[in-house]
Amino acid sequence: MQKTYKGSCHCGEVRFEADIDLSAGTGKCNCSMCAKSRNWSVIIKPEAFRLLAGESELTEYQFGTFSAHYMFCKHCGLRPFGRGYIEQIGGAYVSVNLACLDDVDLKELVEAPIHYADGRNNNWRCTPDEIRHL
Ligand SMILES: [Zn+2]
Repeated sequence: MQKTYKGSCHCGEVRFEADIDLSAGTGKCNCSMCAKSRNWSVIIKPEAFRLLAGESELTEYQFGTFSAHYMFCKHCGLRPFGRGYIEQIGGAYVSVNLACLDDVDLKELVEAPIHYADGRNNNWRCTPDEIRHL
C-alpha cells in the first residue's frame, strides 16, 4: 500500500516527503557505490518526492555514466536520496535511502521485499552470487 513517509538527513537540514509502496519492493545492489555505502533504497517517480527543506544544503556526487546524482547533506554527510534519468527504468527517478525515513514502521520495513541487483557486473536484472554483505 502506498503511504507518505517523512525523511531527513542526520542533522535535519535536509527534509523530504515521499510516496512509497514498500510492499512493491526495495533494492540493494553490489555496484561500487551501493556496496560501499550499504545502500538500501526504493526507486520512485520524481512526482512522488517532495524536498521540504535543504536544497541549498545539498551537494552532489557523480561517477561512471553520470546518469545519477547522489545528493549529500553538506553538514552531516548523509545521502538521503539520489536522482537522475535512466531510460531502462522508465526515465526520471528518485532513489530514496530507506535508512533516512523517520516515520516508517520497522516491521513494515523489514518485511518489504528486496530485489538484489548485480550492478558490479552491469547485470542489473540479475541477483549477484553473494548478497549477504549488502
Ligand atoms: Zn545533514
